[in-house]
Amino acid sequence: MIKKYGIFFIAVFSLSGLLFAREKGGDKMKDVLSKIHWLGHATTMIDAEKVIYIDPWKLKEGAKKADIILITHDHFDHCVPSDVKKIQKDDTTIVTVKDCAGKLNGDIKIVKPGDKINVKGIDIEAVPAYNVNKDFHPKSKGWVGFIVTINGVRIYQAGDTDMTEEMKTLNVDIALLPVGGTYTMTANEAATAANIFKPKVVIPMHWGDIVGSRADAEAFKKAFTGETVILSPEQ
Ligand SMILES: [Zn+2]
Repeated sequence: MIKKYGIFFIAVFSLSGLLFAREKGGDKMKDVLSKIHWLGHATTMIDAEKVIYIDPWKLKEGAKKADIILITHDHFDHCVPSDVKKIQKDDTTIVTVKDCAGKLNGDIKIVKPGDKINVKGIDIEAVPAYNVNKDFHPKSKGWVGFIVTINGVRIYQAGDTDMTEEMKTLNVDIALLPVGGTYTMTANEAATAANIFKPKVVIPMHWGDIVGSRADAEAFKKAFTGETVILSPEQ
């Protein structure tokens, strides 16, 4: 009898332990998600233990200064010296590809697809970003997207890209994916990709400026089987 109850209690305690662990994971995701700010187009700001900007463009004067700036490629709406100047401090580190690095000054680390570096304690991976059915972002350029790990949560900002072979094998928790089409994936192409590599949460980006509209973000949400968070540009 005692043995029977013993097993029962062990079962209950392990179950509650599992639920607790799951709850904790959910809270961590929620916390990291709340630190991600979409400032419109591809401009992403992660306001965590370090202030990290990705592809800063059209920033307001007085924008919070950056510890780290990541720039995916050389195009005018991603690699923007005047916007970098607005948030650059003496000790800001810029991580970018060679084409963009030549336009900027300061502490610059050049990366290519596949590189993994640690900057100021933050793990950063550069992953390939390129077009497969159009010519705006050729693979030969060596342009990138980034995976940034914050508190164990892997955040992927895809850059200007289509669905690539490499993308299908990514292991990330939160993905900012372009959905505007023309220069990048369309909403449906992005959803097809996301349904393959299965991030827990997707924030659609690259809409609302130059190309794409909220309808594209909504179309993505309809086609993606995971959770979609549609943000409004914060500036
Ligand atoms: Zn581009």
